[in-house]
Amino acid sequence: MNIAPQLLEKYNVPVPRYTSYPPANHFDEQVTGAEMLELIRSSNNWAPDHIGFYIHIPFCRKICFYCGCNACTLKSTSEVTRYVEALKQEIRLVAKALNRSRKVTQIHFGGGTPNSIPAEMLEEIVRLISSSAASSWLRCRSIISERRMRSTTPSRANISWGSKGLMM
Ligand code: SF4
Repeated sequence: MNIAPQLLEKYNVPVPRYTSYPPANHFDEQVTGAEMLELIRSSNNWAPDHIGFYIHIPFCRKICFYCGCNACTLKSTSEVTRYVEALKQEIRLVAKALNRSRKVTQIHFGGGTPNSIPAEMLEEIVRLISSSAASSWLRCRSIISERRMRSTTPSRANISWGSKGLMM
């Protein structure tokens, strides 16, 4: 491969991980809960007004030595239950701030390893989003989940959500 030395020099610098937007170096703990809700409300005036939900499941059975994600070892079922309950509270809070005429076009489960927790819990989360929504929210085109292949069995492979399927 023939790469111009100027390009190599230009891009040979440390950069933030770009797996999320905004990238982690733009996260700011100074933003309060009230400010966050106000930002969510103000997004009701944006165009296009489609909504994408990112649901973070931080648990992994074992932490890989190269991991740069916000992940922790799965220790107990009660810890997972507490996390999922908190997640559901946050979904209810966010749903109240969102204009119901908006469409949810994508739900993405990331982690961590989303399929390290019981599939029923993920189903509960999808059902909650569905039940918090007006019918116009249900035109979701895509439900995606990151996964650990070794933990995927045919019985865990599909979670139904109306006529759609969540591939785990
Ligand atoms: S599976 Fe992914 S998120 Fe989990 S520890 Fe390994 S690299 Fe990190």
